Amino acid sequence: MDFNRIKEKLNILADAAKYDVSCSSSGSNRKNTNKGLGNASNGICHSYSEDGRCISLLKILLTNHCIYDCAYCVTRKSNDIKRAAFKIQEVVDLTIKFYRRNYIEGLFLSSGIFKDPDYTMERLIAVAKKLRLEENFNGYIHLKSIPGASDELMYEAGLYADRLSVNIEIPTVSGLKLLAPDKKHEDFAKPMLKVKNEIIRFKEERKLLKSTPKYAPAGQSTQMIVGATGESDKDVMYSANHFYKNFHMKRVYYSGYVPVSNDNRLPSIGTQVPMLRENRLYQTDWLLRFYGFSVQELLNAEYPNLDMDVDPKLSWALRNMQHFPVDVNKADISVLARIPGVGMTSVHKIMKARKFRKLDWDHLKKMGVALNRAKYFILCDSRHWERRDLDPQRIKGLILSTSYGKFRPQYSNQLSLFN
Ligand code: SF4
Repeated sequence: MDFNRIKEKLNILADAAKYDVSCSSSGSNRKNTNKGLGNASNGICHSYSEDGRCISLLKILLTNHCIYDCAYCVTRKSNDIKRAAFKIQEVVDLTIKFYRRNYIEGLFLSSGIFKDPDYTMERLIAVAKKLRLEENFNGYIHLKSIPGASDELMYEAGLYADRLSVNIEIPTVSGLKLLAPDKKHEDFAKPMLKVKNEIIRFKEERKLLKSTPKYAPAGQSTQMIVGATGESDKDVMYSANHFYKNFHMKRVYYSGYVPVSNDNRLPSIGTQVPMLRENRLYQTDWLLRFYGFSVQELLNAEYPNLDMDVDPKLSWALRNMQHFPVDVNKADISVLARIPGVGMTSVHKIMKARKFRKLDWDHLKKMGVALNRAKYFILCDSRHWERRDLDPQRIKGLILSTSYGKFRPQYSNQLSLFN
């Protein structure tokens, strides 16, 4: 093995893979049952680099050669960059060696499209198959599904991978047409649908026959690039909602566009990556999945974009003051979940604790409620409460003046308006 060449390939192909953020390894419970290597049943943890990107898996492309020319992608064929391709056995060897040294807990393998989608998908599957069948590898494997790959290959991929993902990349049909005219939305939808149906089918069969193998046990995910085509947050979240509902996505990831090209259809090189927007989209995603909000409530024709100053739940509450104050000692769980500064863990603690006593500010604080936000929206067992004759703008100003967010410096000019 030529170590210098492998090292060079690793540099090129790990760097090219860093733009893909859909690599969370949660949700798998593959066990080490055959005295093989690794165990993805628990303890799989993923760390994040400073800018929030996941780094715990060996995250590489099989190749950065690509027949397509998607304007937003560093791997596009017209980009003048160094190209490289791993052999199947090289990826297998790297994964096993890194795993044995405890550097990684699994593999995240994606690829540029060389020759055609099926040929590329076959090679990705070959890596996973060798790892599972020849190396007895039970660690986590996340394979990228190549848009346009055949149903047969998507079926096979799910037999070896824990998670599969097809990146939708651009949230709107018009944006995709503009920046990646070779791709069609159907090319993404077809493999997603196949994976969804196979997951359901295998689960049903397992109920009848315990020996049925698992198919993509960590489900499927997708990623959307935000900030490349001028799409609104409403466009992004409606699109995400569509994927959750119709394809049973485990996760939708939002990746702020990193300018990689001097193309006048895109933000110019040097434009700041919209990290705060990315963060707000994740918060909105959370509200849709776990807090009972609908997209329409948070984003609509009147409010097509999220408030960058405050989190989406607080922003919604400030626009809907008629629902507050909420009595924490009486309200339903679904109503408690809508109070700004009250997470689901606190909601459950409140529900439990109020069976035994009436809750006051001290109780709520001990339960982890963020009172700097929640106190304007709550009634509890106390003679002291916040003034409720304040208008929403004033409440927002007061909250901002006492809060510290990691993105706050970017918005210091806006915050000063409230002081
Ligand atoms: S097909 Fe994928 S790898 Fe190729 S240019 Fe488009 S986004 Fe990049």
